[in-house]
Amino acid sequence: MANPVTVDFPRNFTKALNDGQLRRNLRAAMDTLGLRRRNLFSDPEAFEQLRARGDAIRRRALSKLPQLLEQLERKCTENGIQVHWAETPDEANRICLEIMQRHNATRVIKGKSMVSEEMHLNHFLEERGIEALETDLGEYIIQLDHETPSHIIVPAIHKNRDQIARLFHEKIPNTPYTEVVEELNAIARKILREKFFAGEVGVSGVNFAVAETGTLCLVENEGNGRMCTTAPPVHIAVMGLEKVVERLEDVPPLLRLLTGSATGQLITTYFNMISSPRKPDEKDGPKEVHLVLLDNGRTQIWADPELRQTLKCIRCGTCLNHCPVYTRLGGHAYGYVYPGPIGSILTPQLEGLENAGAMATASTFCGACEEVCPVKIPIVDILRRLRIEAYNKVDSPHAVKGHGYKVNAMESLTWKGWALSNATPWVNALNAKLLGLLGPQLPRLPAPDIVKKWTQSRTLPKFASKSLHVLAKEKGLSDE
Ligand code: SF4
Repeated sequence: MANPVTVDFPRNFTKALNDGQLRRNLRAAMDTLGLRRRNLFSDPEAFEQLRARGDAIRRRALSKLPQLLEQLERKCTENGIQVHWAETPDEANRICLEIMQRHNATRVIKGKSMVSEEMHLNHFLEERGIEALETDLGEYIIQLDHETPSHIIVPAIHKNRDQIARLFHEKIPNTPYTEVVEELNAIARKILREKFFAGEVGVSGVNFAVAETGTLCLVENEGNGRMCTTAPPVHIAVMGLEKVVERLEDVPPLLRLLTGSATGQLITTYFNMISSPRKPDEKDGPKEVHLVLLDNGRTQIWADPELRQTLKCIRCGTCLNHCPVYTRLGGHAYGYVYPGPIGSILTPQLEGLENAGAMATASTFCGACEEVCPVKIPIVDILRRLRIEAYNKVDSPHAVKGHGYKVNAMESLTWKGWALSNATPWVNALNAKLLGLLGPQLPRLPAPDIVKKWTQSRTLPKFASKSLHVLAKEKGLSDE
């Protein structure tokens, strides 16, 4: 499904807030994930040291991004991996399609990949007669229900066991209704097993790409990633170009931070390191491996020192699990591929503020996301920057696409009035007096539309009948 040009946030949010089942499902899942993460990182000092290391590794990689990408391309090519560069999602899709068509593929199997979601690859292939089957259990579940992922790590987090049982029963022919987790797993496993061997091309994401060795690292728990990258004769790995790290020794600390933050695991069940296609003396593995590097606005983000920090993200999803907005709405309400705090800073930069600027307003500014982020991304500062840029045309060589889209005469007049009032004592005193007199009556007065919208989800502040200056004077205190 292609992204809509505009997303109806108020409607999405209201729908999500009124869905009691969704909120219960999210609450249960978040409590479990949060507890597991807290148990794993129970020593705050050790965690801070690890975070500082993760932050430093990601900063170093980004500071040398152009050189590291060139080195990665060189090393991968030496290893026999074919590297492709794509500036836009459309270009990346066409590269994948061309490889698939060259191999007469009509069916591809996919491991979990947020970048392929960003490209809307499944939809693109489907329109051209190629079936793309998701093999990650969560992705498989949502694909059955024609949905998109609602979480970066746990795509079907919005569904509970009963809903999945019903879905399997209704959508998979001859499947009896069962809520037993082992039986549900067995049903999915049986179907996916057959598909693994029928897939002509395997598609996967990349968690880390190591420049010094040309190694593609893939983190997963189900073994489906390993199947997708070894069973078919062709493997295509798609990655955002920020995923590169400099050295192999950078991977273990990042892996610890990723698995610990995402699922509270010390390490995942599978950790795949792909360094070449099958060698002549090897019995399995693909004969061709391709790496597609997607830009899609990342170089523009990288060019700005503050916004660049967005690219440190290792997609652990923990900021989602701790966000008071995400945990009440789930991912679909945001309407874009990346939801939650990371989505709120990444999406407006990828899609432009005029399209996705409202994402930056989906935050309470509580800072919980920033506090848990394993690579210390200053999410709140970036959110603030995006909000300012949404309203003002700033004079900056690295302004976010579509900045200044919300400037309107009414708003700029309001803020000018606000500035005048606060800079001119007699105007301020007059305003305070008027609000003091009118204050108690305000909720009863007919409000303009803009105020009505604002107070739909907020309480109108009560204005005191006397200002602080007046109270100070009455008590015989200096009002200075
Ligand atoms: S912003 Fe931080 S917490 Fe959120 S997904 Fe990225 S690395 Fe994880």
